[in-house]
Amino acid sequence: MKPVISIGNREFSIYIEAAQIQTRIKELAEVMNTDYAQKKPLIISVLNGAFMFTADLLRSLDLPCNLTFIRLSSYQGTDTTGMVKTIMGLNESLQNRDVILVEDIVDTGITLQKLLEQIQQEKPASLRICALLVKPDKHQVPVKVDYAGFTIPDNFVVGYGLDLDGQGRNLPHIYQLKS
Ligand code: 5GP
Repeated sequence: MKPVISIGNREFSIYIEAAQIQTRIKELAEVMNTDYAQKKPLIISVLNGAFMFTADLLRSLDLPCNLTFIRLSSYQGTDTTGMVKTIMGLNESLQNRDVILVEDIVDTGITLQKLLEQIQQEKPASLRICALLVKPDKHQVPVKVDYAGFTIPDNFVVGYGLDLDGQGRNLPHIYQLKS
């Protein structure tokens, strides 16, 4: 494992190792297995960032479930634009479904707020949020994450699905921007 990596002219140092991520995902999945026993949830994975997390989480979910994807974009470089663009929408009905929204990271919470509004309009039976990373210091709107992997400080991270301008998503570990 490389302790330091570069993307463009920025340096990142190792922050959460792959093994730690996998251990935490198994813990989250165990809780979800209990919470959704006898149910058949619909998992909505928010692309692009949540692709790796979703794949690992679903391998540990011991439940019948459906999976679908939505694609959003709000970041340019290391800053949010504050404007959330829906690039690819949902086709399936959410009515009366137990929906679990899977996010890579909740930062300002604006993406999540916008998504929750859209999903609630479809009248799901229940709606819960699962996010690998949560940055409470950056929240601009109130958000409640039901299944949170790691609570982290306000620092830009890459790896394990998260990118900087399209790079770094394939890294198995999570790295943080060096100050
Ligand atoms: P929010 O709307 O909560 O501000 O931002 C949500 C999206 O911004 C996340 O789904 C993620 O794609 C991106 N994002 C937020 N913080 C970070 C970060 O530290 N690193 C990376 N790579 N993306 C982030």
